[in-house]
Order: sequence, then C-alpha cells, then structure tokens
Amino acid sequence: MSSHFYVKCLDCGLEAPYAPLAINCPRCNGEWREARYDYPNVKETFLTKLQSRPYNLWRYHELLPIHTPYPEISLGEGGTPLIKAINLGTMLGCSNLYIKDERQGPTASFKDRQAAVTIASLKEAGITEAVIASTGNVAIAYSAYAARAGIKLWAFLTSLVPAEKMREVAIYGTQVVKVTSSYDQAKQVAAEFARQRGLYLDRGTRSIPSVEGMKTIAYEIAERLGLRLQPAPELNGGPIRWQAPDWYIQAVSGGLGPVGVQKGFAELYQMGLIDKIPAIAAIQTEGCSPMVQAWQKKEKTAQPVHSPRTHIATLSTGDPGRTYTLLQERMLQGGGGIFESVSDEEAFRTMHVLAKMEGLSVEPAAAVAFAGLIKLLRTGKIKPHDTIVVNCSGHTMAIEPIILGKGWARNVVLPSQASYETPEEGLLAALSRVTADRYPKVLIIDDTPEARRLILRIMQSQGNYTLMEATNGREGLDLANRQRPDLIILDLMMPEMDGFAVLDQLKANPDTASIPVIVVTAKELTAQEKERLSGQIESLLQKGSFMDNELLGEIRTLVK
Ligand SMILES: *Cc1c(COP(=O)(O)O)cnc(C)c1O
Ligand SMILES: [Zn+2]
Repeated sequence: MSSHFYVKCLDCGLEAPYAPLAINCPRCNGEWREARYDYPNVKETFLTKLQSRPYNLWRYHELLPIHTPYPEISLGEGGTPLIKAINLGTMLGCSNLYIKDERQGPTASFKDRQAAVTIASLKEAGITEAVIASTGNVAIAYSAYAARAGIKLWAFLTSLVPAEKMREVAIYGTQVVKVTSSYDQAKQVAAEFARQRGLYLDRGTRSIPSVEGMKTIAYEIAERLGLRLQPAPELNGGPIRWQAPDWYIQAVSGGLGPVGVQKGFAELYQMGLIDKIPAIAAIQTEGCSPMVQAWQKKEKTAQPVHSPRTHIATLSTGDPGRTYTLLQERMLQGGGGIFESVSDEEAFRTMHVLAKMEGLSVEPAAAVAFAGLIKLLRTGKIKPHDTIVVNCSGHTMAIEPIILGKGWARNVVLPSQASYETPEEGLLAALSRVTADRYPKVLIIDDTPEARRLILRIMQSQGNYTLMEATNGREGLDLANRQRPDLIILDLMMPEMDGFAVLDQLKANPDTASIPVIVVTAKELTAQEKERLSGQIESLLQKGSFMDNELLGEIRTLVK
C-alpha cells in the first residue's frame, strides 16, 4: 500500500514502511522509531484546507499514521479549548497564561489522543486483543476506544490507582488486573502476560501512533494562539498565522506527552509555520522525580526510583528509561526547557487554587503542572510576560478526602416537624444556624477590574465576608465613611485620588482612622513612598507576587 508516511529508526536511520506488528527496525532491531511525512506538501494543505475542517485531532490527518482520515471509532477527541487564565493569571502577574483544557476530551484526560490514534491504528491492522499497563488514565482512554473498535483489552493497573478509576476501566468491559506493586513492576507483569499469549502490548513512547496522537496538542496550541493574534483570517483573505508559545508546561510520568508535543512543535518549525520551538517545563512529584534528578546532575540517563513516594499514582513512573534521554536531548537541541519537581502538598493546594480561581476541577496530576508553573515563576526561571501554555491534563474522578480536609460542608439537621407550628418555621430555624448574623465587612478600593475580581474571588471562595467594591479613591473614601468596614484593601495608583491621598484622609478622620488597611499595589515603591506608608498601613502586598493563601493569611490576622 502506498502511504503518506514511513518510519525512521532513531538508531541506524533506516527508513521503512510502517506495520503496527513489526515493532523492531528491520536492519538494527532497534525499538525506537518515529513517523516521518512529506512535510512540504502538508504545509500547503495546512495553510489552505484546515479552516474548513472540524476542530478535532483528525483535522491534521495528513500528519497522522492512519490511512482513514476520519476513523469511525472517533469520539471527537482533540479540539480542546485554549482557555485564558484570568484570575490565576492576574494573581501570578502573567498576562499571557493559557490553559489547554484536556479534561474536555471524551474520557477526561489527554490520554484520549494517544488512545484514539493507537486504537485506530490497531483496528486498521486487524488486531482484536491487546494488553496495556497503566497508572489509570491510559487504561480508561484505551478502554473507551477499544469498546468502539471491538478490541478486547487487558489492563494491568498498579494497586495505587484509586478504586474509582479502576471501576471506570471495568465498566467499559476491559479486564482489570490489579497488580499489588509499583507501576514499573505492573508493566513487567503485563509484558510477560502479552509475551506468553502472543498479544499486542502497548509500548508507550515506543508506540508510534501514541507519540503521533500526543503531538496534535502542539498543533492545536500553535493554531489557536495564532488565531488569537489574528482573529478571523478569512476576512483578511490570508492564511492562518501560527504561533508558538514561549513555554509548554506539563506534569510528567513516563514522558510520552512532552516527547509527542516536542515532535509536534519541531514539525511545525520545520515546515516554517512557527518561528521557534517552545521551551518545555516537565514537572514531576518530589516522591517520584527520576527525570528531575538526572537533569539537575546533567546526566543523560535517569536512575530509576524503585519505590515512588507519592499519593499521585498517575505520576508514579519510577523508571522512564530511554524516554528521558531522548526528551532531554531534544529539549537541548530545540527550544530548551527545564525539569522541576513539586511536593504532593503543593499539588493538592494548587487543586484548590485552580478550582476556586478558574473554575477548573482537576486531578492531582494535572495540578502538578500548575504547581510547577508557580515554582518556576517564583524562582525566575519563567518570566511573567512569557506566553505560557499549561496542559490541564486530566479531570478528577472523585475528590479524595486527603485533598479537601475537614470543614468543607455545613450540616442542616431538620428538627421533627412536631416541634414547630409549620414545616417552614423549622426549616428557617435550621438554616439560621448555617450562617452567622454578621460577617466582617471588607472594602476593596482599586480601579483595575481584574484586580478587584481576583481579590473578591479569593475572599468569596475561602471565607465569609461582606464585600464592597469601589472603583476609585473618592468613591472608596465615601463608602468607608458611610459603611465603616472592618478592613480596607487599597490600591495606590488610581486616577483622580490616589491611594496615598485616601490613606491621609482615612487617618485624618477619627471615625475611620483605626480601620486596618492592606495595600495591594503594582507600583515599585520608592524609599520616600515606603516612609509615607509606614505606621499607616497593616500590610503591603505586591500585585502579581502573592498567592491567595498569603492574602487570606493577612486578612485573617486583621479581622476575625
Ligand atoms: C499520563 C498523565 C500525565 C503524565 O503524562 P506523560 O506524558 O505520560 O508523562 C499527567 N497528567 C495526567 C492527567 C495523565 O493522565
Ligand atoms: Zn535501525
């Protein structure tokens, strides 16, 4: 069969046709091979035909190792939105922070891309039974597509995988095999099982369709970022202008995602569609960070972590094998990047931040990428003005108790009806116990809507306050006089009447002089200005450099 692609051996360079079951290189027997395409031809297609195609990953079918352009098994994978981070962006001082919301795939993680392309490829090859090992999401995604393709699937899961995820795998009709061991050991058991039975075994980064599925994330990011810069290209009559971000950030376990995404950007660069390959930030958990350790020691091979210490099962690949070697080499040759780790606790806290600030409920693994972003901004490795895309890689199946802690719900216990004249009376009495009569009043004076929205959101999502807003100094002063708030959060740079003037007047009036004030400002203060504020305010926070819990901490010490 003539084909629009072929595979190239990474070891001996041999170019050969692709056959899903012929895994090794015919010349050197190597296992590491990659798909190649007719890039100059594809470039023309990309520039002209894409605009009329549906927004899912098959729109790029000329660069996928599948012969049917739109396979029947598709569930509409890919085409996930690129969302601008509004509150989180403001909080971190990043004006170009985007979230690739991979939770919106058919099985709620970015593994859908890998599964869709791989299962389509297996179906084209007539394969009807397959074996995978998984930390959870691969098994879920493969199971959904295997169901549509008529492929019997065996999923070997480490016992660390949360029970909810295991049951999700089972409902698709996959045979779940729970292996009481680490993920790396579960992989070995699966490989042995497949070998004995002569079944197809998924090989992660060495599986050509899997890498190809993942690279579509890069295409979508570059295409959508370009559209944001140049909306409605059809009106200008011009082709879409593609645009690479400065950073792509992802939580990493086995590393298939970044390997695929790196290849995707490299292909776009080769075709001249983007002018650079982005830097990649690969984030691991501290308890299972073989890649980070190797990177910090400038080693090309990662030493396996034999007993991962993390609650985040999704990211528990202890032995990344050659994937790390390949990834770091390509990062160094391409746009650069970094490997970094964060603790489980940082990830759990970031889950709250994402849900409360951006409306995104994510699984702990996805939060690891965002916790990494925060760390890299704080250490100056990523600059706030950089264009950053974070892969929001998966949705949480069920919030485990460890993430929420105590006190997240209030109870309403209805007394028996007999003790009240009417049922309504009983209900109202019960509800009155849910809320206090009076919450501390907090006045926010800031002329920037984004800043007001962020502070408001932080306070409404994590406490009970009566919140008031003023959009300039004069209005703020007026509200302070009439309402006597328990606390004022004040901006400094405002038109008409600035924060310094507001402060002078508050302090000059005995009725408002004792109201505590937190200044939140974007201004770099001079020594003279700091002098002016000293003794007048309780606290000073720099916009874009404090997190929600830091602001709340200040507030809670000032108002009870
Ligand atoms: C698999 C997975 C990761 C890690 O991805 P790799 O590219 O395989 O290292 C991160 N987050 C989620 C939600 C995942 O399912
Ligand atoms: Zn070879």
